[in-house]
Amino acid sequence: SSNRGSQGIFQRRSVSGRVPADLGRRRLRIVVTGGAGFVGSHLVDKLIARGDEVIVIDNFFTGRKDNLVHLFGNPRFELIRHDVVEPILLEVDQIYHLACPASPVHYKYNPVKTYKTNVMGTLNMLGLAKRVGARFLLTSTSEVYGDPLEHPQKETYWGNVNPIGERSCYDEGKRTAETLTMDYHRGAGVEVRIARIFNTYGPRMCLDDGRVVSNFVAQAIRKQPMTVYGDGKQTRSFQYVSDLVDGLVALMGGEHVGPFNLGNPGEFTMLELAEVVKTVIDPSASIEFRPNTADDPHKRKPDIGRAKELLNWEPKISLKDGLPLMVSDFRNRILNEDEGKGL
Ligand code: NAD
Ligand code: UDP
Ligand code: UDP
Repeated sequence: SSNRGSQGIFQRRSVSGRVPADLGRRRLRIVVTGGAGFVGSHLVDKLIARGDEVIVIDNFFTGRKDNLVHLFGNPRFELIRHDVVEPILLEVDQIYHLACPASPVHYKYNPVKTYKTNVMGTLNMLGLAKRVGARFLLTSTSEVYGDPLEHPQKETYWGNVNPIGERSCYDEGKRTAETLTMDYHRGAGVEVRIARIFNTYGPRMCLDDGRVVSNFVAQAIRKQPMTVYGDGKQTRSFQYVSDLVDGLVALMGGEHVGPFNLGNPGEFTMLELAEVVKTVIDPSASIEFRPNTADDPHKRKPDIGRAKELLNWEPKISLKDGLPLMVSDFRNRILNEDEGKGL
């Protein structure tokens, strides 16, 4: 197996010939697929801040240039409009593979495309990693556990996933992506890392992506009722985006393949989440019940023992502390939208 990737063979000392400030660590050239999206753009910020070169590959399906515009003009940053379903040739040290719509509304919009993105997109990035000896990190999901029969979920749990349902393009797509990742690891010696990400929130989420945190926050700001699907007693565990980004970077830099659950073990019902949003944004906010979507998992909570032990990682920001951190970003964008409409 090759470890050229971690040593940074494509790294040049720096454009100016000086060693970067961070202790002379060799500068890496890193691809972030899906880097114009919510999680990807925060990851790119962290990699640029520590002195690395970043190439973002994104087709702008759910991502936005706005999320990266502050990096335009930075000589260590490059943005390529490209669909990962098509092959691409690059010379890099590391690949963070995030490209894939994450909100149920987005991934159900064109399920075949979602599946192609997960399968062909992941295959292409693994082929690239194999050719250049790069280290590859897959952002998988807690959805691989489906509607779990084990609670909380450990990485050893194989999941309870409907193969023919409306969510399958995403759930089974990510499961296939994990399979491909392990087969390139075992068969071709590619250095791989797998993260299973649990529900994550923060600034730059799409305003209307249909996910529960972005919906409730936008609804409370717009003085609309928060839409609770089903009886609201289903649970999720919500992680603030900077905790996730720290976990992804620790995983990529560490020695363990995984999979690793990356999530916040704090578990909330949707009714409890609505209460937190009320406290943070508007005590007079109301709720409204709506029918739930098909195959909605009843509960979800990560067991993060493995990541704590092997990556020395655990989330630091509780829901109560994290929600306020996304509110001003949402307020600004909602205000701009209103102004755009001439309101
Ligand atoms: P997002 O929708 O904000 O970002 C996804 C990005 O991928 C977007 O910029 C989009 O334009 C791009 N993209 C989609 N299809 C593409 C394609 N075929 N070619 C190139 N680019 C493409 O979602 P996110 O929340 O930032 O999620 C990022 C990754 O993390 C995804 O792989 C997602 O499955 C995973 N994940 C996220 C969460 C979460 O709660 N946010 C939970 C579990 C897993
Ligand atoms: N690939 C790519 N960039 C590369 C190398 C490979 O996009 O730098 C694609 C390639 O086109 C193929 C996939 O990755 O579709 C898998 O490549 P691999 O070499 O593993 O398999 P093969 O080309 O033999 O099918
Ligand atoms: N949900 C809700 N109101 C909304 C959007 C979602 O009650 O406006 C519920 C949804 O039914 C699910 C949970 O919130 O039980 C989390 O949904 P989300 O789409 O955010 O993430 P995922 O289902 O992928 O975990």
